[in-house]
Amino acid sequence: MLSPRHFWQNVIAGPIAEAAIAGRSKEAEAQLVAAIDGNAARQSGADGKTETVFLVGAGPGDPDLLTLRALHVLADADVVFYDELVTAGVLDRARRGAERVFVGKRRGEEGVEQHEINRRLLAAARAGRRVVRLKGGDPFVFGRGGEELEYLRQAGVPVVVVPGITAALGCAAEVGLPLTFRNEAGKLAFITAQRAEDAAAIDWSGLADRQTTVVVYMGLASAASVRDGLIAAGRDGATPAAVLARGTRPDAQAAVGRLDGLAALATEVGEGPAILVIGEVVARSTPWRAAQADALIARDAA
Ligand code: SAH
Repeated sequence: MLSPRHFWQNVIAGPIAEAAIAGRSKEAEAQLVAAIDGNAARQSGADGKTETVFLVGAGPGDPDLLTLRALHVLADADVVFYDELVTAGVLDRARRGAERVFVGKRRGEEGVEQHEINRRLLAAARAGRRVVRLKGGDPFVFGRGGEELEYLRQAGVPVVVVPGITAALGCAAEVGLPLTFRNEAGKLAFITAQRAEDAAAIDWSGLADRQTTVVVYMGLASAASVRDGLIAAGRDGATPAAVLARGTRPDAQAAVGRLDGLAALATEVGEGPAILVIGEVVARSTPWRAAQADALIARDAA
């Protein structure tokens, strides 16, 4: 059964309120009736206590980049399952009494397996606890959120997905790098290449044209293969490129240069998480302009 607090919260701050405010009063009414009926059914059902699982995007690190919806859900959690990309600042926003369970991978350690995470989410929801599954960035961008959603759906657990700011967007904003630009970058691709083999398996031909901005997630260790793949497919080695590490965190770092120097850039920034960005628009970013200004000063001084 939903607690009265949760029930009313669903009514006054959820989709029912949204429908009413938007003037869709019939829809709001129908949803309200369904909520009351659903609640009554839950009270009388054999399994009267399964709670909702919220799959929540934690954003790239800075807690100011959480959505209001994520904040509301965190403030109401009984248990929060989080992974290694979730920063302490974000985790702090969870309800004080909420249990915090780490289910990520720490360096040098085996991570918790996906099926084990699924199982724990299900068990907590079935125990009548309000579950928040907190994932770095957005849950549906290279986050295996889709798998968790499907598993819970199949088990009959209600799931609500709360989007988050994905790393590419957080990092790009921070360094003033427009990912698209009129007449210059009309295509944007988010790809992943964790290992050199992953990069080798990618069909780069669709990413080699000048108009495409390529953002590589999990690509720090495979930067050399990404470079090789793109150049072999015809992308100009002189294309501006950036490695953006620990974006929106206090120790964020950016390295800019050319595609043919991508592997060196990746070693410059230190630890991940980091994304690689390849495209003409990188030349519009703040670190690129700063590097150019530095080069001019050095030339004048020489
Ligand atoms: N769901 C996440 C991505 C998870 S995959 C999202 O939407 O952002 C993990 C990869 O995300 C990392 O290897 C890195 O490439 C990227 N990433 C996550 N947080 C980042 C950050 N703060 N700065 C740079 N890259 C980040």
